[in-house]
Order: sequence, then structure tokens, then C-alpha cells
Amino acid sequence: MHLLLVEDDERLARALTRLLEEDRHVVEHAPDGRTGLDLATGVDGLDCVILDIGLPDMSGLDVARRIRASRVDVSILMLTARDTVNDRVVGLDAGADDYVVKPFAYQEVSARLRALARRAEPGPRRPEPKLSAGAIVLDEAARRVTVQGRSVDLSPREFSLLEALLRHPGQVLTRDQLLDHAWPFSVAVTPNAVDAYVHYLRTKLGEAGGQIETVRGVGYRMGDGADG
Ligand code: CA
Repeated sequence: MHLLLVEDDERLARALTRLLEEDRHVVEHAPDGRTGLDLATGVDGLDCVILDIGLPDMSGLDVARRIRASRVDVSILMLTARDTVNDRVVGLDAGADDYVVKPFAYQEVSARLRALARRAEPGPRRPEPKLSAGAIVLDEAARRVTVQGRSVDLSPREFSLLEALLRHPGQVLTRDQLLDHAWPFSVAVTPNAVDAYVHYLRTKLGEAGGQIETVRGVGYRMGDGADG
């Protein structure tokens, strides 16, 4: 996709740009709302604007409203530090198609972009393949996890950890690998956080949580749920 990232946090913008480019997106960057608006309405063939709400010169909400007022055909993915129902509603009312709450794992942005691309595509939509092991099924596009068909409510971190484990069934992932996956933009998080979140995850998954095996001194592995 051809993307415009409007984000004033330089470190976050650099990290996000690098990951997006690794995913073969073309990325333009604007450090403030005014530049973002100029690029959003002036650059041909943009597919999506990734728009931070807290910008130095104007609110991302205003940028979204003005992009919509200019009738440019582009998707808007909002980055917000707030997670209240009201803020989400205001963001969607301002013209955003979807939003991600900071701090987010990159995979979350990536999944939202894929969903927006599918929505923009004409013709029948192909369902995203789901990840699964034993009774656990993870639907990346819908951000939904089920155990034996029963929906399990996970936090974004828990979701990212589970996703990483499911992508590498039977393989040991170190705490550092899991950290990189679930906390890509944080330097202050220690490997102990991984242990804590795996504990939450196991609890929420109930009996199926036993499929997440501890490999002592190394990390964790996703088993298939079969005995032994
Ligand atoms: Ca900001």
C-alpha cells in the first residue's frame, strides 16, 4: 500500500516506517498536521493515512475532518493514546475508518491495514487464514480468539504473545523474541513481563492454557494440546 504516516514522535515514526517498509509498503512521513493535510490531499494514489491524534499544530481529528471534507478517497487509521468509548466514537465520526490504541504492537497496525485494504478492494473478500493449535483458534483480521468456539477476551499484549506462539507451533520462543514481538516500541520492558503476561494468557485460556509449555530457562512453546 501507499501510506502516509502523520506522527510527531520521531522515534515511533522511524520504527513504524521501518517495519512498514519491511512489509513492502511505500511510506511518506509528515511530522505535523499541516504537512500531513498537504500530503494527504496533494499526493496521488495514497491508500491510507495513519494518523496520530496528538499532533503539535492541530488535532488529528481536525486533520481527518479536513481530509474527508476535501473528498479525497483514502482510508484513515487513527493512532490514539486514549481508549474510551467516547474518544473512539469521536475519531470514527471525524472520518477515521479504524483506530489503534497506543501503545500498540506492530502486528496490530499491520492487521488493521490488511483489513482496510480488503475493504477498499472491489470483488469478493478472501477470508484471512486463521492460526490454531488444539482447541485455540486466533483470527488475526477479526482480532478474535476462541477456545472450542468460545470467545476469549484478550488484551493487545496477550493477543500478540499468543499470535507469536501460534505462528511457530512446537518451536521454543525465547523471552526476548516474545518481547520483540509484543513490545516492539518499548525499551523499558523486562523479560519478566513476558512471564507475567503468559500467566494471564494461560489463565484466560483455561484448560487450553496448558498448551503453552514453559521451557525452563529459555522461554515458551505452543503445544498441540495432545496428551504427553
Ligand atoms: Ca503525538
